[in-house]
Amino acid sequence: MYSPSPTTTKFSPKSFGVHKSVITSFNTLIGTDVLMAKPARKTIPSATELYVLDQSRYRCALCFRLNGNLNEKRGQIVHLDHDRANCVEDNLAFLCLDHHSQYDSRTSQHRNYTPQIIKKARAKLYQAIADGHHTSNSYPRSTVRETDRVMFSELVDMMNRSRTADFLRRTCFGSQSFHWRELDEIDNYLQCTNGAEHEFIDLDLETLRQRFIAEYDTFRSLLAENTRPTKHNPPYRTVPMEWEETDPKRYTTTVMMLRDAADKVCTAYDELVRTARERMAP
Ligand SMILES: [Zn+2]
Repeated sequence: MYSPSPTTTKFSPKSFGVHKSVITSFNTLIGTDVLMAKPARKTIPSATELYVLDQSRYRCALCFRLNGNLNEKRGQIVHLDHDRANCVEDNLAFLCLDHHSQYDSRTSQHRNYTPQIIKKARAKLYQAIADGHHTSNSYPRSTVRETDRVMFSELVDMMNRSRTADFLRRTCFGSQSFHWRELDEIDNYLQCTNGAEHEFIDLDLETLRQRFIAEYDTFRSLLAENTRPTKHNPPYRTVPMEWEETDPKRYTTTVMMLRDAADKVCTAYDELVRTARERMAP
């Protein structure tokens, strides 16, 4: 298993031969040594290493993803699959020392950092660097707020445009039948926003959005498993009415379970809305 043993190495233009301005400006800014993997045992080809450093400009992908922090960091290049022999660019990312050691750690509290999460974070970082946001000390809060504001307003529009919110809040699954099309709006929205570019930059908002999606997925699965087409109007579905006669306990439990699952979706949505409004208040 890869366990990094960082040693102190000063980056100099000579170390890489090219991109002198990057290295020089970095050393000037930091005015000190940088911790990196020991050059003598370096397995990453210089050109690849330089590409990663140039793309990230010594900014940590996770510091940026979690806190919008675009300051230069002492750090190391991590192998995302923990295989030091795999030196393709896609498998490499520059992380600050703290995040590097967390990523390589095997303790349960840090298992959340999967290669996919780092890759998403890295893509956002590279884009921010390409857009020149690193020339100020941090990603401008106004830009974060504006991007998230657009995302938030799309979500609220979707919930209000159709009967989605109303359906989730008020349907009594015991006495009312429903049609799948009542969930078209939210299903389409979730399908169209299933990508890193649709995530909130604010991590708290993104966590709440993920919880909302997870609660909705649970609700939708329960709805599919526990309802059947009605006899007289098959496109509409209900909890089987005959259960009320044959197995009243099952009927009541199922109706309550569906109502409870819908309430959890609404609670998750409300919490997201409250937090977003608080964050976006002028
Ligand atoms: Zn970091």
